[in-house]
This record gives sequence, C-alpha cells and structure tokens, in this order.
Amino acid sequence: MISLSEVQERIFGSVRRLESCEVPLRDALGLVTAVDIVAGEAVPPFANTAMDGYAVRAGDTEGASPGSPVRLAVVAELPAGMGPTTPVGPGEAIRIMTGAPMPGGADAVVMVERTEPAGDGAVLVHEAVGAGTHVRPAAGDLAPGDLVFPAGTVLGPAHLGVLASIGIRDAPVVRRARVGVLSTGDELIEQGTLAPGQIRDSNRPMLLGLVADAGIEAVDLGSARDDESIIRRTLEDAFASCDAVLTSGGVSVGDYDYVKAAIDRIGRLEWQQVAIKPAKPLAFGMVGERPVFGLPGNPVSSLVSFELFARPALLQMMGHERRFRPVVPAMAEHAMHRKPDGKLHLDRVRVELRAGSFRAARTGDQASNVLSATAAANGLALLPDGDGVAEGDPVDVMRLDWPADH
Ligand code: AMP
Ligand code: MG
Repeated sequence: MISLSEVQERIFGSVRRLESCEVPLRDALGLVTAVDIVAGEAVPPFANTAMDGYAVRAGDTEGASPGSPVRLAVVAELPAGMGPTTPVGPGEAIRIMTGAPMPGGADAVVMVERTEPAGDGAVLVHEAVGAGTHVRPAAGDLAPGDLVFPAGTVLGPAHLGVLASIGIRDAPVVRRARVGVLSTGDELIEQGTLAPGQIRDSNRPMLLGLVADAGIEAVDLGSARDDESIIRRTLEDAFASCDAVLTSGGVSVGDYDYVKAAIDRIGRLEWQQVAIKPAKPLAFGMVGERPVFGLPGNPVSSLVSFELFARPALLQMMGHERRFRPVVPAMAEHAMHRKPDGKLHLDRVRVELRAGSFRAARTGDQASNVLSATAAANGLALLPDGDGVAEGDPVDVMRLDWPADH
C-alpha cells in the first residue's frame, strides 16, 4: 500500500495543463484566466449621476435648506442612455436620471427627494450639496491600463460582469476539460427489470454529476462488459475526443478485473493500492499526455477516489491553483471507532455549525457499497490510523459541499 499523499503527488505530477483559448463569456463561468486581464476602457466610461435628481452647480445650492430653498430654472431633462447637449448655467438645473452623464457646467446632483417642483419650469432645492455629491466619476471603478484580474483568476459571475464592462466578449482562459465516464461490469444494467445477478449502474450518473459539479464537461461513455478488448477499444475511442477518462469497476484483484490490463495496453498503467478506506484500489494511467482514472467499482469508493485523485487533477489541468476541498476542524458528535490497519479512514459524515463550532456525525452504514449514507453526507471525516476518536474529540472533516481553498 502507498500513502495517500504519495499517490496524489504522483498523479498531480503527471497531468499537464490544457491549452488556453478564448471563450465567450456565457461559456466561461468557472474557468481560469490564462493571462493578466488589463482594462482597455474606463468604467464607468463617463462621469454620471448615482441618483435620480437634479444636476446643479454646487455653488448655487449654498445655504439651501427646507426652510429657505434655492430656486433653480430647469433647462433640460436627461435620461440614462442620452448624451448631454445642454450645459447647466448659473442658476440652472437639469432633471437627471440615475446613470445619465453629468452635463457640462454641473458638478453635483441633488437627489429628487430633497427638491420640490416650483411650477413654471423651476425647482426648489432644499439641500446644499458640495461639489461631487452623488457624482460617479469617469474611471472610478477601472481606468484604462489597470490590472483587472491576474492570470489564474477563477471566473465567477461577477468576474464575467466586469469583463463585459471593459468590452471583453471572449475571455482568455484555460480550456474546460472534457472528461469521459465509463462503467464496467457484466452485472450492470441501466433500465428495465433486474435479472438474477444484475444490479443497476449507479456509478455513471454519480460520476457524471461529480464531473459536471466541478465545472468540467462530462461525456457519457456508457457501460462496457468485462472484456479487455471491449474496454480497450472504448477507451481508445474516448481518447479521440476526451482529455481524461474515468472508469469504474474492474480494478481490484478479481478474475474479471480487466480495466488495468486495458489501460496498460494503450498507455502506462500505475496500479496502486492506496492506504485508505474506502477506495483502496486505483488504476491510474497515462495515455500519452492524458490521464485515465480507473476508479473502484463500489459506489462509495468510486466517489471517494474521485474526490481525492480525479477532481484535484482535473482542476489542475484546467489551471486551478486551489483544487482541494477545504478541511475544517470539527467535534465528533459520537465516538467514531475504527481498527488500526495502516490506512487513513474516510467516514461519511454530516457536519453542521452549532454554537460556533462544527459538529460531525456519521450518516449511516459505512460499508463501501452503501451509497445512501454518502448521499446524506456533506463531508468525509479523516480518521488517521489508530482506534478512531471518542465523542467530543476533535476530528478533521473534508467538506464535500465547499469548492476548494488550497
Ligand atoms: P469490481 O471492482 O468491478 O469488482 O466492483 C466492485 C463492486 O462494485 C461490485 O459489487 C460491483 O457490482 C459494484 N459496481 C461496479 N460498478 C458499479 C456501478 N457502475 N454501479 C454500481 N455498482 C457497481
Ligand atoms: Mg466488476
């Protein structure tokens, strides 16, 4: 058995970052910028009003109050989307709407709530305003030449908005990985009545979901029989269009475990027994520059193996610096016993914040075929080799519901 960290190091040392390309903003969510983004335009492009009200010369409002308002002649109206044509002269005001450009001559805005219509095209101003009041200056957010986001930034929704604001329609990013998901096993069916010995393929929908959830393009490769040449051909076909492939099943030491052999035929196999429970067997291989993760068949093992090896490796390929789920210190709600066996145990737990600290409780049967307990979990309690932890003891929990922090 090899330690978890050693296997991870080997895998993360093998995978290569994908190429960069330009991607329309609508397809760029979650991708990583490949270069520094520098503003080519000012945001906002012109000085404009932050309020609905009146554009004025601040000096004209001196001494204004509700008791002794200042009367100004309203010479124009300026909605957002129009360029100003009329300037504001002494004793004048322009009715202006949020986002409209500041007209010439005006240096402040009085919000409409501090004014009162005076009839015959005039307005009474109840408040004295200083120069710049309610004015959003040109380039107040970004100026041309500003570094907007450094290379390596993960694009969230607000980042996409910022890119749009500086006129970028296609974001320079590291390409999104395309990852195939293949189930293996003669016993698997997708639909219909179960014949004796058959079970339903649960790994494929789960793994497709885990891939998609990580912001990666998931490709359904279906299910292959336990036949080395079928698995090999399916993998070869998949690598014609995929950057990586995940298989499940066929990687333990049973007589029908052909995935290892198939990977070895088309690439370099590193078959490993990792010192963890669940998910001990892992058939990792490289087919040229592209990884194939032969995940274990038991659904819980498949998920844990994906989380520990495939997810961070795939995020690394997509240029993510932070690719590991956060680990939080929690308190065990009850004893979590285990036996010393040289492995790190990863128990499926529900972790909740209560009275200022995280509390972790197992979500049910911890056998590696019991997926329902995993579905109810939002974390993996990390139980180092030994006897486990007692009730109230500290226990580290990897959050499966939080993206990545390191
Ligand atoms: P294997 O490593 O192929 O022997 O599979 C280990 C266990 O996982 C067996 O009980 C398989 O039936 C089960 N298994 C394998 N693949 C799947 C799958 N796609 N969905 C559900 N169970 C599976
Ligand atoms: Mg099998």
